[in-house]
This record gives sequence, structure tokens and C-alpha cells, in this order.
Amino acid sequence: MAKTNTIVHRCETSGLRLTSQRRIIASVLDMSRDHPDVEELHARAAARDPGISLATVYRTVKTLEEAGILEKVDFGDGRARYEDAERDHHDHLIDMETGKVIEFVDPEIEALQERIAAKLGYRLLGHRLELYGTRKPEDGGQQG
Ligand SMILES: [Zn+2]
Repeated sequence: MAKTNTIVHRCETSGLRLTSQRRIIASVLDMSRDHPDVEELHARAAARDPGISLATVYRTVKTLEEAGILEKVDFGDGRARYEDAERDHHDHLIDMETGKVIEFVDPEIEALQERIAAKLGYRLLGHRLELYGTRKPEDGGQQG
């Protein structure tokens, strides 16, 4: 039985027209567990169908973003990256030296943000948090 929560499935139930190229792009997105930008998505999609152009990938991710199926994330380097909008909530820590992205959820941060919103008279519907850092030197090294 087909999985019902895939991007491909949500495209179909949202009434988005899925050409064969768009279907490949949606399927590449379904298989991505990272945060690819359009160039990276294009490389992955073109590996399956060399006829897929960068412009088609741009248009497809824009359509999926507007439909609320994809979420755009920005890790501070000016490149738009994408991930499945229905993935479980998480925040990101970006390693500024390697570009590695670590996903985390911290109950204290979640609760703190709820409290801040409530204090300001709001019910929190969502948030986005990106941390930027570099790795600390290994423990046991010389201080200072
Ligand atoms: Zn993520």
C-alpha cells in the first residue's frame, strides 16, 4: 500500500498537476533527509532524468512551497534550502566551518517560547530557530 504522507501523495491530494518530471522531483524530495538547495535537488533529479532543467526544479519547489508542502529554510548563507513541511518539528544548529546541519528538539526551548508568547498575549502557532556556531576545541586541551 502506498504511504499516505509522502510529498508525492500530498501533491496528488492537493490537486497539483504532476508531470513525470515533477513527480521525479517530488520523489527526490521524499527521499531527501537533509536540506538541499535547488542546485542540489537538480543534481539528484537529473541523475534520474537528465532532461530535467534547473528552471523546472525552481518552478516545482516554488509551487510546492506555495502549496504548504515544502518549507523553505535559510541557514544564513543566502541559499534557499527546502525540507518537507510535515516533518516533525525541530530546530537547527549550523556548523559555520563545515556547513553541517544538526537537527535537535529541546523541550525547555519549546516550553520557554510558549511562555514568552503567552506573556505577550499570544498563543504560539510555530517558531523557527537557527543556531550558528563552530565546534569547541576538544576537552583536555590547553585553556586560553
Ligand atoms: Zn531540518
